[in-house]
Amino acid sequence: MKRIAIVGGAGRMGQVLSSALGAMDDVTVVALVDVQAPAQLSGAQHVTSIDGLDPGTVDVVVDFSTPEGAAMSARWCAQHGVALVIGTTGLGDAERDAVHRASESTGIVMATNFSLGVVLQQRFAAMAAPYFERVEIIELHHDRKVDSPSGTSLTTAHAIADARREAGLAPLADPTSRHSIEGTRGGDGADGVRIHSVRLPGLVSHQEVLFGGPGEGLTIRHDSFDRLSFVAGVALAVRAVGATPGLTEGIDSLVV
Ligand code: NAD
Repeated sequence: MKRIAIVGGAGRMGQVLSSALGAMDDVTVVALVDVQAPAQLSGAQHVTSIDGLDPGTVDVVVDFSTPEGAAMSARWCAQHGVALVIGTTGLGDAERDAVHRASESTGIVMATNFSLGVVLQQRFAAMAAPYFERVEIIELHHDRKVDSPSGTSLTTAHAIADARREAGLAPLADPTSRHSIEGTRGGDGADGVRIHSVRLPGLVSHQEVLFGGPGEGLTIRHDSFDRLSFVAGVALAVRAVGATPGLTEGIDSLVV
């Protein structure tokens, strides 16, 4: 039985995770750490700061809060030898440094996307990459997302670029030579794999990888319709992570 504390436990992800992970046989949610009061405690205790946690009662801290919160979690987990799973995105250099330093003292899994479907989409895209002349990515998100392109689309572009390079293919050159409006061809994600970002109310998190070759196309699409799409990946990370020092980035290596 893994005993977990969720930092950001009153937030949108924290609330979904506390009820979904708490319902699993091998996980118990002992604490929700949040500066705000959680709407649902789901049998856990509420503490307002990670410093209020008793390290003897927690095996894994799961952080879905803010970059500053994630850095605080990393420092606390390193100090007390508690394992850490980080889902918080948008970490700057200082916060990433804090995570790297903490991983010298405890086990950390950090992923910008815990959806198993996204892991599979990236694998399928890498498989298809050597067989098509051209490829572009469209990532679509809700209009409250402040960063562009999504971290997932960048990881996907790099996976495709690596697969093309391994197959001996040259970086993609954009055939467009005249732009009446700048930016319509998207941005270069890696080796000319272009990324287009769409932001609209009503969307959650979606991504299409579009391949084109002579006379045919292949589109690989993934949709996260709900925050529940991240639960299985977080559960996988919670089960895999331990106090043995080291940083695992992404959950690809955990999905076997
Ligand atoms: P949210 O704003 O609903 O929740 C964040 C919570 O963190 C809030 O309740 C806030 O009070 C709390 N918080 C902030 N600082 C804190 C601190 N120092 N200590 C304790 N609690 C603190 O946001 P959300 O939609 O739940 O997303 C949280 C994070 O998770 C974001 O960075 C988001 O991008 C990320 N996210 C990642 C994935 C993934 O698959 N990796 C999926 C969804 C969301």
